[in-house]
Amino acid sequence: MDSHEVDSSVRVRGARVHNLRDVDADMPRNALVAFTGVSGSGKSSLAFGTLYAESQRRYLESVAPYARRLLNQVEAPDVDTVTGLPPTVALAQRRSAPSSRSTVGTVTAISNTLRMLMSREGDYPDTPARTGPGHYPEGTNRLYSDAFSPNTVEGACPRCHGQGVVHEATESSMVPDPSLSIREGAIASWPGAWQGKNLRDVLSALGYDIDRPWRELSPAAREWILFTEEKPVVTVEPVREPHRIHRPYQGTYTGAKQLLLRSHAESKSEATRARAAEFLHTAECPLCAGRRLKPEALAVTFAGYNITELADLPLSDLVEVLRPYTPGTEAVAVLTQDLTSRIDVLIELGLGYLSVDRESPTLSGGELQRLRLAGQLRSGLFGVVYILDEPSAGLHPADTAALTTVLDRLKHSGNSVFLVEHDLDVVRHADWLIDIGPGAGVNGGKVLYAGEVEGLREVADSITRPYLFGEIVRPSRAARAPTGALRLRAVTSHNLHDLDADIPLGVLTAITGVSGSGKSTLLHAVSVTADADPDIARVVEVDQAPIGRTPRSNLATYTGLFDTVRKLFAATGTATARGYGIGRFSFNVAEGRCPTCQGEGYITVELLFLPSTYSPCPACHGKRYNPETLDITYRGKTIAEVLDLTVDQAADFLDDVEVVARALRTLRDVGLGYLRLGQPATELSGGEAQRVKLATELQRARRAGTVYLLDEPTTGLHPADTDILMTQLNSLVDGGATVVVVEHDMTVVAEADHVIDMGPGGGGQGGRIVAQGTPQQVADNAVSRTSPYLLERLT
Ligand code: ADP
Ligand code: ADP
Ligand code: ZN
Ligand code: ZN
Repeated sequence: MDSHEVDSSVRVRGARVHNLRDVDADMPRNALVAFTGVSGSGKSSLAFGTLYAESQRRYLESVAPYARRLLNQVEAPDVDTVTGLPPTVALAQRRSAPSSRSTVGTVTAISNTLRMLMSREGDYPDTPARTGPGHYPEGTNRLYSDAFSPNTVEGACPRCHGQGVVHEATESSMVPDPSLSIREGAIASWPGAWQGKNLRDVLSALGYDIDRPWRELSPAAREWILFTEEKPVVTVEPVREPHRIHRPYQGTYTGAKQLLLRSHAESKSEATRARAAEFLHTAECPLCAGRRLKPEALAVTFAGYNITELADLPLSDLVEVLRPYTPGTEAVAVLTQDLTSRIDVLIELGLGYLSVDRESPTLSGGELQRLRLAGQLRSGLFGVVYILDEPSAGLHPADTAALTTVLDRLKHSGNSVFLVEHDLDVVRHADWLIDIGPGAGVNGGKVLYAGEVEGLREVADSITRPYLFGEIVRPSRAARAPTGALRLRAVTSHNLHDLDADIPLGVLTAITGVSGSGKSTLLHAVSVTADADPDIARVVEVDQAPIGRTPRSNLATYTGLFDTVRKLFAATGTATARGYGIGRFSFNVAEGRCPTCQGEGYITVELLFLPSTYSPCPACHGKRYNPETLDITYRGKTIAEVLDLTVDQAADFLDDVEVVARALRTLRDVGLGYLRLGQPATELSGGEAQRVKLATELQRARRAGTVYLLDEPTTGLHPADTDILMTQLNSLVDGGATVVVVEHDMTVVAEADHVIDMGPGGGGQGGRIVAQGTPQQVADNAVSRTSPYLLERLT
């Protein structure tokens, strides 16, 4: 690079975030930069932990100088300097909170425009319907766009408050078994314990027969007990119980329905509300028929559809409904142009099967990230660095080319695009490559190479190199014969209609197909069918969900080896002399832990208007224990020092402790030797969490008869990690298990024993089995969109 170009670079000097080893790296701006390296090598630590964190810190300092004092407590990224860094936008794969009401429409801002379209250009019942694009008579009483949102007071259905469902307390929902008497618990919705007994005694004092089966009580009595609004007070003579003396008291009766609705609506305890919901009959709202909007809004149509019908269409259909209105400069044209241009980008990114109303918590991380990416394309920003986390996740190879086109467009409008990426086709497309490694954790953290892709050929210790340049030779393996089949019949769910499928047992099956074709839906059906099959011992879903949501859960606790370690400490001479038991060495128990952070090692710093952050505990400096506990050593190490060992180090340190050694061995087998024992579950990546789960499974002695289900297990995995994963999956199958994976990585698909290709398209255009058989049979299929990519891998 000449000096002119160096001026337009982002330059990092002395980065030490997480495992980064004081590294320097230069990345050109206005370029597509790919960060590669095995899982845990430090890619995210550089891209997100250093570059994005530094940009955030500068931004916060500029908008909120008053926060500077607080920010000093928050860890700024450990880096000497970062120069040439423009404002940064991170598009991570984080899912939104499951309770959130966000949808495809709200994430992409399509909902707002759609509401405006209905408000201004919709056909109202009292006006002559529009027959095509054109003008409207003025002076009609129109609804504001807010009236088309169920989340506003103006728009919500008045009967169900925009919920779409109503909760009813009926006799059958509160008294599921009418053959029981009240004493036997006929009124199942009553609270348990003392309050239930009290209500029973009050009823008895009121003269009701609490020993007669419910169904034999008079209709009037049953009606009153359940639905009365009265609150009579009576003197209750409690039933005598042995060894307990009860005095008469004044008891009040409250109708069962009132009691139930109150605890459902008002209880502070989520468990109580959930229990109450079980005794409520949930039905579609009779006023809006589940469409959540008030009737006036539902009566307005555009092109013959009301807003919920439009929001329910797959985007690929919606865009065709709108397209005829786009020519011209009228308001209707401007609004529909805005919508179609947004939707066209989503279709290009392979998301045409989604609908506007699809709730974002039901989307995969990859889908959500591509939605956000599409939004950025329209923002018109330039001079920005976009940092993306594996944008190819969830994409069929047929859609990857469209992704790179979209990324190029962001670049050509004057932005920089930095990607943490494993898909080699996307990596080859990059202008610049930063390869980190060579290994993971303490064995990684170095920048092995920064430069144009081709130059990586010369880097001897790069694990990425042989994969990128096709230097890996794969021995062919004989296909295994199935031991039986799991028969799925007439599966109807999402876009699957009456589908039959046979899943071979005792082999490795890959489910393929474009995004939205129904792979995950089929996998879920496999899970349900396998669960109900008496011949199948166990069904295990090995996903990338975190293994724990608090820093209290870690590798040592999750795998169970910490129990043994604590026993070792409790058995030492000093511990015995001081009377310290096993509990003393748990950071969840008060006696041994640091009182300041209560054993977390961190304290939470709350910032006004900002997400709270963790900061190391000032008392124990992250050690989690109190000084007395740290007096105890085993083979010269304190419990905190043992938790600080990597799996590899611990394997040496505890090699003669058989239970622990076995657990550590399986962790090393799945490539996690670099993780620290005390590494909080919250710091593990999705791929790392998945491998911890696999390791726990591999430790089990009996695996025959178990069905393992994995949805895109290679997400976040370097090709070298994928090889490790395949070794593990194959050893599960060789041990008698059945493995079913949903997968886009053709290396994995080519190694499967059986392939089921879904499609042909996404959403309504998918949901069928296009081809199935051995990888070669599917590769030879003329219709399958997977076959060309599979063929490439097989030859
Ligand atoms: P990659 O993106 O290459 O998979 P990461 O940058 O996420 O790797 O992780 C690099 C190393 O830093 C790993 O050993 C990982 O366990 C560790 N790590 C990740 N996040 C944290 C964190 N918040 N605190 C401490 N260590 C972390
Ligand atoms: P794939 O796994 O092949 O990407 P999915 O099985 O996730 O496809 O989706 C198949 C179809 O079902 C798509 O049209 C998708 O939008 C729809 N779908 C998936 N999950 C849900 C859900 N939770 N609610 C409604 N529709 C869904
Ligand atoms: Zn309603
Ligand atoms: Zn502490």
